[in-house]
Amino acid sequence: MATGIKNGRTSQILQFAHDIDAVAERYAVAITPLMQELIDAERSDGPISKQFVPDARELDSAHGELADPVGDGPHAPVPGIVHRYPDRVLLMPTKICAAYCRFCFRRETVGQQGEALLPARELAAALQYIREHEEIWEVILSGGDPLVLSPRRLDKILTELREIAHVRVVRVHTRVPLVAPEKITRELTEVLRKAAPLFVVLHANHADEFAPQGQAACARLVDAGIPMLGQSVLLRGVNDNAAALEALLRRQVENRIKPYYLHHADRANGTAHFRTGLAQGRALTAGLRGRVSGICQPAYVLDIPGGHGKSPVGPDYVRERSDGVDVRDVNGCWHAYE
Ligand code: SF4
Repeated sequence: MATGIKNGRTSQILQFAHDIDAVAERYAVAITPLMQELIDAERSDGPISKQFVPDARELDSAHGELADPVGDGPHAPVPGIVHRYPDRVLLMPTKICAAYCRFCFRRETVGQQGEALLPARELAAALQYIREHEEIWEVILSGGDPLVLSPRRLDKILTELREIAHVRVVRVHTRVPLVAPEKITRELTEVLRKAAPLFVVLHANHADEFAPQGQAACARLVDAGIPMLGQSVLLRGVNDNAAALEALLRRQVENRIKPYYLHHADRANGTAHFRTGLAQGRALTAGLRGRVSGICQPAYVLDIPGGHGKSPVGPDYVRERSDGVDVRDVNGCWHAYE
């Protein structure tokens, strides 16, 4: 009997190793030492494991899933730039991340074979594009994770952006402060600080991601005067319940990070097991309104497949009548407002 159980476990382990190899052949896999520590400390299908440990289901593409679910391609005038809205562009100087999310919306390009950094001539052309388009008010560094770049390389890019008069604001989208907090050094913090006004937008999906080292890294950034915003993805089995979302949003604000976006999970290939229904997301975000403070409320948004951009898809609080409107309260009751 005992041997039977042992053989069963051995074959489960072998199957798991086989699955990881198969997924790693198709998509990037990396887990930082700190995230591995958190994974070891939680139950086997805990919220950190689910986000970073490969799963055989990633090899299946569901109906409607796409290689480019947010439609970056049609809005990429030059390599490294996505220009979807007139006043802002994405600048993607790298395609690598410290850890790879199993639900990544750019998984067909991020962490894949090829050049990890945007080649120098393409970076120069991307900066030239920004220079030539005076309508660009904001540049969003994305990727990949821009905070895996060395402080020297990042400084060079930020210095060039600062010299473009019409670029008034920079945003940096990153998971690094929580997944690899040791990278938030004094030198890197100074590079970001002197590029003000610059916002660091932290990607986090569960309160447990905020290890003491990660919270200290966020504090280094905020203490240096760098404003932080939070963005999260609604993920089945990770944060798709009121208690988990509440804990995440409170944890962000407790760390002086203003929740900004809650993304509906994109239709990237092999990520169906992470997606919730839109109705579930709307019900969850409606429930948050009465449950957590206004400063904890993110905008629930969906990137419309095909490159049509982001739209708020949260609950409705106003409905039109012929002689006025009805307004919904936090308990779901409607009140006439003449
Ligand atoms: S940090 Fe962003 S770009 Fe990198 S793997 Fe995660 S979702 Fe993809």
